[in-house]
Amino acid sequence: MSTNAELFRNAQAVIPGGVDSPVRAYGSVGGTPSFIDHAKGARLWDAEGREFVDLVCSWGPMLLGHADARVVEAVQEAAARGLSFGAPTSAETALAEAVRARVPLAEKVRFVSTGTEATMTAIRLARGATGRDYIVKFAGNYHGHSDGLLSEAGSGVATGGLPSSAGVPAGVAALTIVLPYNDVAALRECFAARGAEIAGVIVEGAAANMGVVAPRGEFLTEIARLCHESGALMIQDEVLTGFRVSPAGWWGLSTGRWPREAQEDSAKDQAIEESAATSRANLKLGFEPPTGRAAQNEGVVFGADWSPDLFTFGKVVGGGMPLAALGGRAELMDQLAPLGPVYQAGTLSGNPLSCAAGLATLAAADEAVYAAVDAAADTIAGALDAALNAEGVPHFIGRAGSLFSVFFSEAPVVDYAGAKAQETWRFAPMFWEFHRQGVMIAPSVFEAWFTSAALWQDDSAMNQVLDAVPAACKAAAE
Ligand code: PLP
Repeated sequence: MSTNAELFRNAQAVIPGGVDSPVRAYGSVGGTPSFIDHAKGARLWDAEGREFVDLVCSWGPMLLGHADARVVEAVQEAAARGLSFGAPTSAETALAEAVRARVPLAEKVRFVSTGTEATMTAIRLARGATGRDYIVKFAGNYHGHSDGLLSEAGSGVATGGLPSSAGVPAGVAALTIVLPYNDVAALRECFAARGAEIAGVIVEGAAANMGVVAPRGEFLTEIARLCHESGALMIQDEVLTGFRVSPAGWWGLSTGRWPREAQEDSAKDQAIEESAATSRANLKLGFEPPTGRAAQNEGVVFGADWSPDLFTFGKVVGGGMPLAALGGRAELMDQLAPLGPVYQAGTLSGNPLSCAAGLATLAAADEAVYAAVDAAADTIAGALDAALNAEGVPHFIGRAGSLFSVFFSEAPVVDYAGAKAQETWRFAPMFWEFHRQGVMIAPSVFEAWFTSAALWQDDSAMNQVLDAVPAACKAAAE
Protein backbone atom coordinates (compact mmCIF):
# COMPACT_ATOMS: atom_id res chain seq x y z
CA MET A 1 0.00 0.00 0.00
CA SER A 2 1.42 3.43 -0.95
CA THR A 3 1.48 6.19 1.63
CA ASN A 4 -0.02 9.62 1.00
CA ALA A 5 3.53 11.02 1.05
CA GLU A 6 4.65 8.61 -1.71
CA LEU A 7 1.58 9.31 -3.80
CA PHE A 8 2.09 13.07 -3.39
CA ARG A 9 5.74 12.79 -4.41
CA ASN A 10 4.80 10.80 -7.52
CA ALA A 11 2.03 13.24 -8.37
CA GLN A 12 4.33 16.26 -8.01
CA ALA A 13 6.67 14.76 -10.59
CA VAL A 14 4.00 14.82 -13.29
CA ILE A 15 1.31 17.27 -12.11
CA PRO A 16 2.16 20.89 -11.11
CA GLY A 17 2.03 20.94 -7.33
CA GLY A 18 0.69 17.40 -7.44
CA VAL A 19 -2.90 18.59 -7.73
CA ASP A 20 -5.44 19.66 -10.32
CA SER A 21 -6.94 22.43 -8.18
CA PRO A 22 -4.60 24.51 -5.97
CA VAL A 23 -6.24 24.35 -2.52
CA ARG A 24 -6.02 20.54 -2.58
CA ALA A 25 -2.22 20.88 -2.12
CA TYR A 26 -2.67 21.93 1.56
CA GLY A 27 -0.52 25.03 0.99
CA SER A 28 -2.17 27.07 3.75
CA VAL A 29 -2.22 24.28 6.37
CA GLY A 30 1.07 22.59 5.47
CA GLY A 31 1.69 18.86 5.34
CA THR A 32 0.64 16.18 2.91
CA PRO A 33 -2.81 15.94 1.40
CA SER A 34 -4.81 12.76 1.90
CA PHE A 35 -5.21 10.88 -1.36
CA ILE A 36 -8.76 9.56 -1.36
CA ASP A 37 -9.35 5.96 -2.29
CA HIS A 38 -13.12 5.70 -1.90
CA ALA A 39 -16.10 7.16 -0.06
CA LYS A 40 -19.54 6.08 1.13
CA GLY A 41 -22.26 8.06 2.88
CA ALA A 42 -20.67 10.52 5.31
CA ARG A 43 -17.23 8.91 5.18
CA LEU A 44 -14.04 8.96 3.12
CA TRP A 45 -11.14 6.48 3.13
CA ASP A 46 -7.67 7.57 2.11
CA ALA A 47 -4.95 5.60 0.36
CA GLU A 48 -3.48 4.50 3.71
CA GLY A 49 -6.84 3.07 4.78
CA ARG A 50 -7.57 5.92 7.23
CA GLU A 51 -11.24 6.76 7.65
CA PHE A 52 -12.61 10.32 7.84
CA VAL A 53 -16.01 11.87 8.40
CA ASP A 54 -16.33 14.22 5.45
CA LEU A 55 -17.23 17.89 5.92
CA VAL A 56 -15.94 18.87 2.47
CA CYS A 57 -18.46 16.94 0.34
CA SER A 58 -16.33 17.49 -2.78
CA TRP A 59 -16.60 21.26 -2.04
CA GLY A 60 -20.37 21.13 -2.22
CA PRO A 61 -21.79 18.66 -4.73
CA MET A 62 -22.37 15.69 -2.41
CA LEU A 63 -25.62 16.91 -0.86
CA LEU A 64 -26.92 13.38 -0.33
CA GLY A 65 -23.56 11.92 0.75
CA HIS A 66 -21.09 9.77 -1.17
CA ALA A 67 -21.95 6.92 -3.53
CA ASP A 68 -25.68 7.28 -2.90
CA ALA A 69 -27.19 4.10 -4.33
CA ARG A 70 -29.83 5.96 -6.36
CA VAL A 71 -27.24 8.19 -8.01
CA VAL A 72 -24.71 5.43 -8.62
CA GLU A 73 -27.40 3.23 -10.17
CA ALA A 74 -28.55 6.02 -12.47
CA VAL A 75 -24.97 6.67 -13.61
CA GLN A 76 -24.28 2.96 -14.15
CA GLU A 77 -27.45 2.61 -16.16
CA ALA A 78 -26.51 5.63 -18.29
CA ALA A 79 -22.91 4.41 -18.71
CA ALA A 80 -24.09 1.07 -20.01
CA ARG A 81 -25.86 2.95 -22.82
CA GLY A 82 -22.75 4.92 -23.85
CA LEU A 83 -20.55 7.57 -22.29
CA SER A 84 -20.92 10.52 -24.65
CA PHE A 85 -22.57 11.10 -28.01
CA GLY A 86 -22.05 14.75 -28.92
CA ALA A 87 -25.75 14.79 -29.78
CA PRO A 88 -28.82 15.88 -27.81
CA THR A 89 -30.33 13.44 -25.29
CA SER A 90 -33.68 13.51 -23.52
CA ALA A 91 -31.83 13.52 -20.18
CA GLU A 92 -30.74 17.11 -20.87
CA THR A 93 -34.33 18.21 -21.37
CA ALA A 94 -35.44 16.36 -18.25
CA LEU A 95 -32.71 18.03 -16.19
CA ALA A 96 -33.53 21.47 -17.62
CA GLU A 97 -37.16 20.88 -16.63
CA ALA A 98 -36.07 19.82 -13.14
CA VAL A 99 -34.03 23.03 -12.78
CA ARG A 100 -36.89 25.22 -14.03
CA ALA A 101 -39.38 23.50 -11.72
CA ARG A 102 -37.22 24.59 -8.77
CA VAL A 103 -36.10 28.00 -10.08
CA PRO A 104 -38.93 29.23 -12.35
CA LEU A 105 -36.94 32.33 -13.39
CA ALA A 106 -34.63 29.93 -15.23
CA GLU A 107 -37.11 29.58 -18.06
CA LYS A 108 -34.43 28.14 -20.31
CA VAL A 109 -31.26 26.39 -19.24
CA ARG A 110 -27.97 25.67 -21.05
CA PHE A 111 -25.68 22.95 -19.65
CA VAL A 112 -21.90 23.21 -19.58
CA SER A 113 -19.28 21.18 -17.73
CA THR A 114 -17.96 23.50 -14.99
CA GLY A 115 -19.07 26.47 -12.92
CA THR A 116 -16.27 28.46 -14.55
CA GLU A 117 -17.83 27.92 -17.97
CA ALA A 118 -21.27 28.81 -16.64
CA THR A 119 -20.21 32.19 -15.25
CA MET A 120 -17.95 32.92 -18.24
CA THR A 121 -20.87 32.27 -20.59
CA ALA A 122 -23.29 34.29 -18.45
CA ILE A 123 -20.93 37.25 -18.67
CA ARG A 124 -20.55 36.90 -22.41
CA LEU A 125 -24.32 36.77 -22.68
CA ALA A 126 -24.71 39.89 -20.53
CA ARG A 127 -22.22 41.73 -22.71
CA GLY A 128 -23.79 40.44 -25.91
CA ALA A 129 -27.31 41.32 -24.81
CA THR A 130 -26.50 44.82 -23.55
CA GLY A 131 -23.74 45.82 -25.96
CA ARG A 132 -21.76 47.02 -22.92
CA ASP A 133 -18.34 45.87 -21.66
CA TYR A 134 -18.02 46.47 -17.92
CA ILE A 135 -18.80 43.82 -15.32
CA VAL A 136 -19.16 44.45 -11.60
CA LYS A 137 -18.03 41.78 -9.15
CA PHE A 138 -17.51 41.82 -5.40
CA ALA A 139 -14.27 41.37 -3.50
CA GLY A 140 -14.00 37.90 -1.99
CA ASN A 141 -16.62 36.40 -4.33
CA TYR A 142 -15.35 33.55 -6.48
CA HIS A 143 -16.87 32.72 -9.82
CA GLY A 144 -14.32 30.30 -11.27
CA HIS A 145 -11.02 30.93 -12.99
CA SER A 146 -11.91 32.79 -16.20
CA ASP A 147 -9.76 35.86 -16.95
CA GLY A 148 -12.22 38.59 -16.08
CA LEU A 149 -13.37 37.13 -12.78
CA LEU A 150 -10.14 36.54 -10.88
CA SER A 151 -9.72 40.05 -9.49
CA GLU A 152 -9.87 39.95 -5.68
CA ALA A 153 -11.46 36.53 -5.95
CA GLY A 154 -12.19 34.22 -3.03
CA SER A 155 -11.48 30.47 -2.74
CA GLY A 156 -7.97 29.44 -3.82
CA VAL A 157 -7.08 32.98 -4.87
CA ALA A 158 -7.87 34.13 -1.31
CA THR A 159 -6.11 31.12 0.24
CA GLY A 160 -2.99 31.92 -1.78
CA GLY A 161 -3.24 35.61 -0.82
CA LEU A 162 -3.24 36.62 -4.50
CA PRO A 163 -4.71 39.87 -5.86
CA SER A 164 -5.44 38.16 -9.19
CA SER A 165 -3.56 35.82 -11.55
CA ALA A 166 -0.56 36.23 -13.81
CA GLY A 167 -1.56 35.80 -17.42
CA VAL A 168 -4.70 37.93 -17.23
CA PRO A 169 -4.20 40.81 -19.70
CA ALA A 170 -4.51 44.21 -18.03
CA GLY A 171 -7.05 45.19 -20.66
CA VAL A 172 -9.30 42.30 -19.63
CA ALA A 173 -8.96 42.95 -15.90
CA ALA A 174 -9.73 46.63 -16.51
CA LEU A 175 -13.22 45.68 -17.63
CA THR A 176 -14.01 44.25 -14.19
CA ILE A 177 -15.05 46.72 -11.52
CA VAL A 178 -14.50 45.26 -8.05
CA LEU A 179 -16.64 46.59 -5.21
CA PRO A 180 -16.74 45.69 -1.52
CA TYR A 181 -19.31 43.00 -0.72
CA ASN A 182 -22.43 44.02 1.22
CA ASP A 183 -21.70 47.70 0.57
CA VAL A 184 -24.88 49.25 -0.82
CA ALA A 185 -23.44 52.79 -0.80
CA ALA A 186 -20.47 51.75 -2.99
CA LEU A 187 -22.85 50.00 -5.34
CA ARG A 188 -25.08 53.06 -5.69
CA GLU A 189 -22.07 55.28 -6.23
CA CYS A 190 -20.73 52.98 -8.94
CA PHE A 191 -24.04 52.92 -10.78
CA ALA A 192 -24.44 56.69 -10.46
CA ALA A 193 -21.03 57.18 -12.09
CA ARG A 194 -20.96 54.38 -14.67
CA GLY A 195 -24.39 52.73 -14.82
CA ALA A 196 -24.71 53.18 -18.59
CA GLU A 197 -21.44 51.23 -19.21
CA ILE A 198 -22.23 48.25 -17.00
CA ALA A 199 -23.28 45.05 -18.77
CA GLY A 200 -23.91 43.09 -15.63
CA VAL A 201 -23.31 42.53 -11.93
CA ILE A 202 -22.27 39.06 -10.85
CA VAL A 203 -22.74 38.08 -7.22
CA GLU A 204 -22.68 34.82 -5.30
CA GLY A 205 -26.10 33.77 -3.98
CA ALA A 206 -24.56 33.98 -0.54
CA ALA A 207 -20.82 34.49 -0.47
CA ALA A 208 -19.13 31.24 0.55
CA ASN A 209 -15.63 31.49 -0.92
CA MET A 210 -14.10 33.91 1.62
CA GLY A 211 -15.65 31.89 4.41
CA VAL A 212 -19.41 32.18 4.57
CA VAL A 213 -20.71 35.75 4.48
CA ALA A 214 -24.45 36.11 4.04
CA PRO A 215 -25.77 39.03 1.98
CA ARG A 216 -27.14 41.53 4.47
CA GLY A 217 -30.20 43.71 4.40
CA GLU A 218 -31.12 45.02 0.98
CA PHE A 219 -27.81 44.17 -0.72
CA LEU A 220 -29.18 41.72 -3.31
CA THR A 221 -32.48 43.52 -3.87
CA GLU A 222 -30.54 46.74 -4.46
CA ILE A 223 -28.28 45.04 -7.03
CA ALA A 224 -31.41 43.89 -8.87
CA ARG A 225 -33.01 47.34 -8.68
CA LEU A 226 -29.94 49.20 -9.90
CA CYS A 227 -29.33 46.70 -12.71
CA HIS A 228 -32.89 46.90 -13.93
CA GLU A 229 -32.97 50.69 -13.69
CA SER A 230 -29.81 51.07 -15.75
CA GLY A 231 -30.35 48.29 -18.28
CA ALA A 232 -27.65 46.01 -16.84
CA LEU A 233 -28.21 42.33 -16.04
CA MET A 234 -27.99 40.76 -12.61
CA ILE A 235 -26.19 37.41 -12.67
CA GLN A 236 -26.78 35.46 -9.49
CA ASP A 237 -24.07 32.85 -9.17
CA GLU A 238 -25.62 29.90 -7.38
CA VAL A 239 -22.93 27.40 -8.37
CA LEU A 240 -22.28 26.71 -4.70
CA THR A 241 -25.62 27.60 -3.07
CA GLY A 242 -27.93 26.26 -5.82
CA PHE A 243 -29.93 23.16 -4.81
CA ARG A 244 -27.89 23.08 -1.59
CA VAL A 245 -29.30 25.72 0.77
CA SER A 246 -32.81 25.05 -0.59
CA PRO A 247 -34.28 23.43 -3.71
CA ALA A 248 -34.23 26.91 -5.24
CA GLY A 249 -30.86 27.90 -3.82
CA TRP A 250 -30.22 31.12 -1.94
CA TRP A 251 -32.74 32.96 -4.07
CA GLY A 252 -35.46 30.50 -3.06
CA LEU A 253 -34.46 30.43 0.58
CA SER A 254 -34.26 34.14 1.16
CA THR A 255 -37.23 35.15 -0.99
CA GLY A 256 -39.28 32.66 1.02
CA ARG A 257 -40.24 30.49 -1.95
CA TRP A 258 -38.65 27.62 -0.12
CA PRO A 259 -39.27 26.11 2.31
CA ARG A 260 -42.73 27.69 2.24
CA GLU A 261 -44.20 24.91 0.12
CA ALA A 262 -42.70 22.31 2.39
CA GLN A 263 -44.21 24.01 5.40
CA GLU A 264 -47.66 23.78 3.86
CA ASP A 265 -47.32 20.01 3.88
CA SER A 266 -47.64 19.51 7.61
CA ALA A 267 -47.52 15.69 7.55
CA LYS A 268 -44.16 15.79 5.83
CA ASP A 269 -43.02 18.47 8.23
CA GLN A 270 -43.92 16.34 11.19
CA ALA A 271 -41.96 13.42 9.75
CA ILE A 272 -38.92 15.68 9.39
CA GLU A 273 -39.32 16.92 12.98
CA GLU A 274 -39.55 13.37 14.26
CA SER A 275 -36.51 12.14 12.39
CA ALA A 276 -34.53 15.16 13.57
CA ALA A 277 -35.65 14.62 17.16
CA THR A 278 -34.68 10.94 17.10
CA SER A 279 -31.26 11.67 15.67
CA ARG A 280 -30.69 14.52 18.03
CA ALA A 281 -31.51 12.33 21.02
CA ASN A 282 -28.58 10.08 20.09
CA LEU A 283 -26.06 12.88 19.74
CA LYS A 284 -23.46 13.77 22.34
CA LEU A 285 -24.23 17.45 22.28
CA GLY A 286 -22.67 18.87 25.42
CA PHE A 287 -24.06 22.32 24.58
CA GLU A 288 -27.40 23.98 24.21
CA PRO A 289 -28.75 23.17 20.73
CA PRO A 290 -29.15 26.31 18.66
CA THR A 291 -32.69 27.25 17.76
CA GLY A 292 -33.97 28.53 14.46
CA ARG A 293 -32.26 29.32 11.21
CA ALA A 294 -32.94 33.05 11.39
CA ALA A 295 -30.86 33.44 14.52
CA GLN A 296 -27.84 32.08 12.70
CA ASN A 297 -28.10 34.09 9.52
CA GLU A 298 -27.34 37.42 11.07
CA GLY A 299 -28.29 40.42 9.00
CA VAL A 300 -30.19 38.44 6.35
CA VAL A 301 -33.62 39.74 5.43
CA PHE A 302 -35.82 36.73 4.66
CA GLY A 303 -38.87 37.33 2.49
CA ALA A 304 -37.42 40.14 0.35
CA ASP A 305 -38.10 39.60 -3.34
CA TRP A 306 -35.87 40.20 -6.34
CA SER A 307 -35.48 38.77 -9.81
CA PRO A 308 -32.00 38.06 -11.13
CA ASP A 309 -31.81 38.00 -14.93
CA LEU A 310 -29.43 35.06 -15.10
CA PHE A 311 -28.54 32.27 -12.70
CA THR A 312 -25.48 30.06 -12.78
CA PHE A 313 -25.54 26.60 -11.23
CA GLY A 314 -22.98 23.86 -10.68
CA LYS A 315 -21.91 21.35 -8.02
CA VAL A 316 -25.17 19.76 -6.70
CA VAL A 317 -26.90 20.03 -10.09
CA GLY A 318 -24.36 17.50 -11.43
CA GLY A 319 -24.58 15.21 -8.40
CA GLY A 320 -20.77 14.92 -8.23
CA MET A 321 -20.23 14.59 -11.99
CA PRO A 322 -18.85 17.42 -14.19
CA LEU A 323 -21.91 19.51 -14.99
CA ALA A 324 -22.96 23.12 -14.56
CA ALA A 325 -25.58 25.37 -16.10
CA LEU A 326 -26.81 28.86 -16.75
CA GLY A 327 -30.46 29.77 -16.89
CA GLY A 328 -32.66 32.80 -17.25
CA ARG A 329 -35.49 34.44 -19.13
CA ALA A 330 -36.25 32.66 -22.40
CA GLU A 331 -35.73 35.72 -24.58
CA LEU A 332 -32.35 36.35 -23.01
CA MET A 333 -31.19 32.73 -23.16
CA ASP A 334 -32.25 32.57 -26.80
CA GLN A 335 -29.44 35.01 -27.56
CA LEU A 336 -27.10 32.03 -27.22
CA ALA A 337 -26.03 30.17 -30.36
CA PRO A 338 -27.57 28.57 -32.37
CA LEU A 339 -30.55 30.96 -32.02
CA GLY A 340 -28.58 34.09 -31.21
CA PRO A 341 -25.20 35.73 -31.75
CA VAL A 342 -23.57 34.86 -28.40
CA TYR A 343 -21.37 31.80 -28.91
CA GLN A 344 -21.00 28.90 -26.49
CA ALA A 345 -20.32 25.22 -27.13
CA GLY A 346 -18.82 22.10 -25.52
CA THR A 347 -17.89 18.57 -26.61
CA LEU A 348 -19.01 17.16 -23.27
CA SER A 349 -21.74 19.74 -22.48
CA GLY A 350 -24.83 18.00 -21.10
CA ASN A 351 -22.93 14.71 -20.83
CA PRO A 352 -25.41 11.84 -20.34
CA LEU A 353 -23.70 10.44 -17.22
CA SER A 354 -23.59 13.89 -15.63
CA CYS A 355 -27.24 14.50 -16.45
CA ALA A 356 -28.18 11.12 -14.97
CA ALA A 357 -26.31 11.93 -11.74
CA GLY A 358 -27.91 15.40 -11.58
CA LEU A 359 -31.41 14.10 -12.20
CA ALA A 360 -31.09 11.34 -9.58
CA THR A 361 -29.67 13.82 -7.04
CA LEU A 362 -32.40 16.41 -7.56
CA ALA A 363 -35.09 13.73 -7.46
CA ALA A 364 -33.75 12.43 -4.13
CA ALA A 365 -33.33 15.92 -2.62
CA ASP A 366 -36.68 16.19 -0.86
CA GLU A 367 -37.58 18.29 2.16
CA ALA A 368 -36.12 15.70 4.50
CA VAL A 369 -32.72 16.07 2.82
CA TYR A 370 -32.73 19.85 3.29
CA ALA A 371 -33.91 19.44 6.89
CA ALA A 372 -31.04 17.00 7.46
CA VAL A 373 -28.25 19.19 6.06
CA ASP A 374 -29.65 22.15 8.02
CA ALA A 375 -29.81 20.16 11.25
CA ALA A 376 -26.28 18.83 10.82
CA ALA A 377 -25.01 22.37 10.14
CA ASP A 378 -26.88 23.81 13.14
CA THR A 379 -25.47 21.14 15.39
CA ILE A 380 -21.84 21.36 14.27
CA ALA A 381 -21.82 25.17 14.10
CA GLY A 382 -23.40 25.26 17.58
CA ALA A 383 -20.76 22.88 18.94
CA LEU A 384 -17.94 24.98 17.42
CA ASP A 385 -19.39 28.16 18.86
CA ALA A 386 -19.70 26.63 22.34
CA ALA A 387 -16.21 25.12 22.29
CA LEU A 388 -14.53 28.29 20.97
CA ASN A 389 -16.33 30.27 23.67
CA ALA A 390 -15.08 27.81 26.28
CA GLU A 391 -11.51 28.30 25.02
CA GLY A 392 -11.87 32.08 24.86
CA VAL A 393 -11.00 32.11 21.13
CA PRO A 394 -12.34 35.21 19.38
CA HIS A 395 -14.60 33.98 16.61
CA PHE A 396 -17.62 34.61 14.44
CA ILE A 397 -19.54 31.79 12.82
CA GLY A 398 -20.61 32.88 9.33
CA ARG A 399 -23.91 31.30 8.34
CA ALA A 400 -26.00 31.24 5.18
CA GLY A 401 -28.64 28.53 5.35
CA SER A 402 -26.85 25.21 5.82
CA LEU A 403 -23.47 26.74 4.94
CA PHE A 404 -21.17 27.90 7.69
CA SER A 405 -17.55 28.68 8.44
CA VAL A 406 -15.47 29.86 11.36
CA PHE A 407 -13.82 33.30 11.27
CA PHE A 408 -11.21 33.90 13.94
CA SER A 409 -12.45 37.40 14.45
CA GLU A 410 -14.27 39.16 17.27
CA ALA A 411 -16.36 41.33 14.96
CA PRO A 412 -19.04 39.96 12.63
CA VAL A 413 -17.53 39.49 9.17
CA VAL A 414 -19.53 41.19 6.42
CA ASP A 415 -16.94 41.56 3.64
CA TYR A 416 -13.58 40.45 2.29
CA ALA A 417 -11.62 43.02 4.32
CA GLY A 418 -13.15 41.55 7.48
CA ALA A 419 -12.48 37.99 6.33
CA LYS A 420 -8.82 38.77 5.64
CA ALA A 421 -8.38 40.62 8.93
CA GLN A 422 -9.05 37.49 11.05
CA GLU A 423 -6.36 35.56 12.91
CA THR A 424 -5.81 33.05 10.10
CA TRP A 425 -2.93 31.36 11.93
CA ARG A 426 -5.42 29.70 14.26
CA PHE A 427 -6.85 27.61 11.44
CA ALA A 428 -4.03 25.15 10.60
CA PRO A 429 -3.78 23.71 14.15
CA MET A 430 -7.57 23.32 14.19
CA PHE A 431 -7.51 21.62 10.78
CA TRP A 432 -4.84 19.13 11.82
CA GLU A 433 -6.52 18.30 15.13
CA PHE A 434 -9.73 17.52 13.25
CA HIS A 435 -7.66 15.49 10.79
CA ARG A 436 -5.99 13.57 13.62
CA GLN A 437 -9.44 12.69 14.95
CA GLY A 438 -10.69 11.53 11.55
CA VAL A 439 -12.71 14.57 10.54
CA MET A 440 -11.99 16.09 7.12
CA ILE A 441 -12.64 19.82 6.77
CA ALA A 442 -11.58 21.95 3.81
CA PRO A 443 -7.87 22.87 4.11
CA SER A 444 -8.40 26.63 4.15
CA VAL A 445 -9.99 29.11 6.53
CA PHE A 446 -11.60 30.79 3.52
CA GLU A 447 -13.75 27.80 2.56
CA ALA A 448 -17.21 26.77 3.69
CA TRP A 449 -17.95 23.65 5.73
CA PHE A 450 -20.36 21.33 3.97
CA THR A 451 -22.83 18.86 5.44
CA SER A 452 -24.68 16.01 3.73
CA ALA A 453 -27.96 14.27 4.46
CA ALA A 454 -25.93 11.07 4.99
CA LEU A 455 -24.04 12.76 7.83
CA TRP A 456 -27.23 13.58 9.76
CA GLN A 457 -28.46 10.02 9.22
CA ASP A 458 -25.26 8.57 10.70
CA ASP A 459 -25.21 9.18 14.46
CA SER A 460 -21.76 7.69 14.89
CA ALA A 461 -20.34 10.06 12.24
CA MET A 462 -22.06 13.06 13.85
CA ASN A 463 -20.78 12.00 17.28
CA GLN A 464 -17.25 11.60 15.90
CA VAL A 465 -17.41 15.23 14.71
CA LEU A 466 -18.88 16.45 18.01
CA ASP A 467 -16.25 14.52 19.99
CA ALA A 468 -13.49 16.11 17.89
CA VAL A 469 -14.70 19.68 18.30
CA PRO A 470 -13.40 20.53 21.82
CA ALA A 471 -9.79 19.49 21.12
CA ALA A 472 -9.84 21.11 17.66
CA CYS A 473 -11.01 24.38 19.23
CA LYS A 474 -8.38 24.04 21.95
CA ALA A 475 -5.75 23.68 19.20
CA ALA A 476 -7.00 26.97 17.71
CA ALA A 477 -6.48 28.65 21.10
CA GLU A 478 -2.80 27.77 21.45
N1 PLP B 1 -19.02 30.05 -8.75
C1 PLP B 1 -19.00 29.74 -7.43
C2 PLP B 1 -19.88 30.51 -6.49
C3 PLP B 1 -18.18 28.73 -6.96
O1 PLP B 1 -18.16 28.44 -5.66
C4 PLP B 1 -17.35 28.04 -7.88
C5 PLP B 1 -16.45 26.97 -7.42
O2 PLP B 1 -16.20 26.78 -6.27
C6 PLP B 1 -17.41 28.39 -9.24
C7 PLP B 1 -18.26 29.40 -9.64
C8 PLP B 1 -16.55 27.69 -10.25
O3 PLP B 1 -17.02 26.39 -10.44
P1 PLP B 1 -16.03 25.27 -11.01
O4 PLP B 1 -15.03 24.98 -9.93
O5 PLP B 1 -16.94 24.10 -11.31
O6 PLP B 1 -15.41 25.82 -12.26
